[in-house]
Amino acid sequence: MQQGKAKIAGNGIAIGPVFEIKTQDLKVSDLAILSIEDELTRLQAGSEDALEQIKALIDEQGSDSAAAEILEFHAMLCQEDELLDPARELIKQGGINAAVAILQAGKAQADEFKALDDPYMQARAADMLDVSQRIASCIAGVKLQTKPSVRSVIVADDLTPSQTAAFAREHVAAIVLRQGTLNSHAAILARNMGVPSLIEASLPLNIDGKIMAVDATAGCYYLEPDEPTIVKMQQAKDDWDKEQLKLFALRGKASIAPCGHKMLVCANIGSPDEIEFALDNDCEGVGLMRSEFLYIGHETYPTEEEQYQAYARVATTLNGRPLVIRTLDIGADKKCPYFELPAEENPALGLRALRICLTRPELFKVQLRAICRAAARGNILLMLPMVTAVSEVQKAKALLEESLRELIREGKACTRPQLGIMIETPAAAVLSAQLAREVEFFSIGTNDLMQYTCALDRQNSSLAPFYDPHHPALLELIKLTARNAHAAGIWVGICGEAAADLSLTNTFIEYGIDELSVSPSRILPVRAQILSSDAECSNRRGSEILF
Ligand code: PEP
Ligand code: MG
Repeated sequence: MQQGKAKIAGNGIAIGPVFEIKTQDLKVSDLAILSIEDELTRLQAGSEDALEQIKALIDEQGSDSAAAEILEFHAMLCQEDELLDPARELIKQGGINAAVAILQAGKAQADEFKALDDPYMQARAADMLDVSQRIASCIAGVKLQTKPSVRSVIVADDLTPSQTAAFAREHVAAIVLRQGTLNSHAAILARNMGVPSLIEASLPLNIDGKIMAVDATAGCYYLEPDEPTIVKMQQAKDDWDKEQLKLFALRGKASIAPCGHKMLVCANIGSPDEIEFALDNDCEGVGLMRSEFLYIGHETYPTEEEQYQAYARVATTLNGRPLVIRTLDIGADKKCPYFELPAEENPALGLRALRICLTRPELFKVQLRAICRAAARGNILLMLPMVTAVSEVQKAKALLEESLRELIREGKACTRPQLGIMIETPAAAVLSAQLAREVEFFSIGTNDLMQYTCALDRQNSSLAPFYDPHHPALLELIKLTARNAHAAGIWVGICGEAAADLSLTNTFIEYGIDELSVSPSRILPVRAQILSSDAECSNRRGSEILF
């Protein structure tokens, strides 16, 4: 038996035979080199065949699935000059076949993505490699996709998004990668499928067919487990499955504590394709949609129409449940080159989020108009990040009114969304009594509130031992914010990571917090904690949530 530790990318426990996917050696360099004209034709035909393959995969997946959305992105890349033009240039220089040219062009593009600071953009390198390999395999006539036909533990160095998307869910017991990142599309898809997944596992090569036990609750694996380990893991799996069944029985239940305090348990999502998983876990709404997905990874500013379509789609899918859209929160660790922001010594204390939006009102209004239009299609609320002063909120409100007036003048359907702010700076918490008179809700961002209150850089992993969401200063600010919100008759939620910390649920109930917004897989555990809480809510408003 060999055992090891790895990072958890999706929770769960599984035992099964390994289905090893080896990095394909395409042998494209063995292909004959034809005339430049013929190689260009080969490239074109290869990209068209690849497009057909991807379209067939989309049909298999169903066009509404999260996988289909990624494949749509691949379909777009297949036709993009950004990928094909450098390959054409290489061919025109002579002495190279079309398959090698597209692989080189794909790798060069992927390297550029990898060199960016942003983990999301780095993860897009995998998409670029995936598409270029598919085109090369079409040119070379090699079949790329391999998938198990029985329920297996998939092991690979890394998986491309389209490989992950092509697996039949019933044949995937778990996924274990030697490399991989938490932000890669493959990891996102695995999580969305609810598959136990590990990354960064130091597994030996050539283990196809061997039995493997995967504990993606403790972050470890056992290759060729001995009998006592199999029994132990089987027991752990039975317990996990029972726990999941118990949690799933909570779907459809209201999140009301025994003391009578009612909370909404909502989902945090970072892109529209996460909404299905959130609904599977019975989210009562989306308490935080980070709108950066529309900006980061794009070459230029998203248009009003693009934004409107994305927001309206999520709102419609939520079917009346609330959707809190947070306006742009770039800056600091979230980079977006086309904004051409100045280099800063202290980016976390720099030009970010609402500060950027207020200094570029024309840009901000594009997003405000898109949100107001989408609000006519669903239950949408608008939330401003990184507020530090009442005047900032007043300026944003004036721009919101201006946007609404323009839309009405233009005869476009629109609705004024409920307006709220994030409380994620100590300044906002301290000023929460005054801020509460300006808005209709608060949502406390404990990630940044902790960073700014305790002077702890949230990106610095060596500060982890100091990062304590039970810190009395943080809790005092949360209590103060909740008290001021309720005194002004508005509701208050928490959308930072602390919202999912079950050891704080009682405290939040006692503060009278109205809503907790957490990552989708944490919704039901949080609801279970609320239902069994022995807390007494002292700050109860006695009124229903105002969504
Ligand atoms: C927060 O700061 O707690 C928050 C939810 O926002 P983000 O993590 O996106 O900064
Ligand atoms: Mg924040």
